[in-house]
Amino acid sequence: MSLYLKYLICVWKVQSPDAFDALNAAGRRGLLTVYVKFYAVLIPGVYTIYTFIDTRSRLSQWLMAILLTAMYSYWLPQIWLNVRRGVARRLRIDYIVGSSIVHLFLPVYFFACPENIAFIRPTPLIWVLVAYNLSQAAVLVLQRFLGALFFIPAVLRPDVYSYCASLPSVDEESCVGADQQTESMHKCPICLMPVDATSSSESAHAVTPCHHVYHEACLASWMEIKLECPVCRAALPPRVDG
Ligand SMILES: [Zn+2]
Ligand SMILES: [Zn+2]
Repeated sequence: MSLYLKYLICVWKVQSPDAFDALNAAGRRGLLTVYVKFYAVLIPGVYTIYTFIDTRSRLSQWLMAILLTAMYSYWLPQIWLNVRRGVARRLRIDYIVGSSIVHLFLPVYFFACPENIAFIRPTPLIWVLVAYNLSQAAVLVLQRFLGALFFIPAVLRPDVYSYCASLPSVDEESCVGADQQTESMHKCPICLMPVDATSSSESAHAVTPCHHVYHEACLASWMEIKLECPVCRAALPPRVDG
């Protein structure tokens, strides 16, 4: 169990924003570590079940099913996180698909290939596991295009907030003392660049419920990390749009 917890922590680590954003050296190393840890739990687990428990017993089959189901649920925390944030983390699609394929390779080899080196009898149930894992990957990819909440019925959706509201007047913010030039401008607290209040495009800016103004893109990136206003730390509700 503690091994499994360790595994969960390492999944969480990889989902932390700075762990693997680009495919730079550190990112690749991090990814490799995740795969090594994943198989470091999976292979001894399968080996233990096959060595110490009669392969044909019900118990062994159940243990195997539980172990594999638990380990191949690894996309669920990210799907859930996307739902809670109301915004889908911009994971690369090739990363999602590639990751699933790499993770599924060994179990498919052992449970579908009749001449595998461990002499495990092939079982059609392995394809249920493959379908289960790939459907999670599919949900994750679809969340990017259809919005994080696309599969949740409207009545069950959490309270969402539209960040595309019109800009509050600068007076509403505590801008006392601002000089004449900046008075007509909001400044994005993330990139410190002016937010064009006169722009007709509402998607260029975002207004939080606490009336702080950001660039849409800046706030979206921030909300992938934290659901908290960077200025006043008020909670940020999920976005109405994915
Ligand atoms: Zn900005
Ligand atoms: Zn705020």
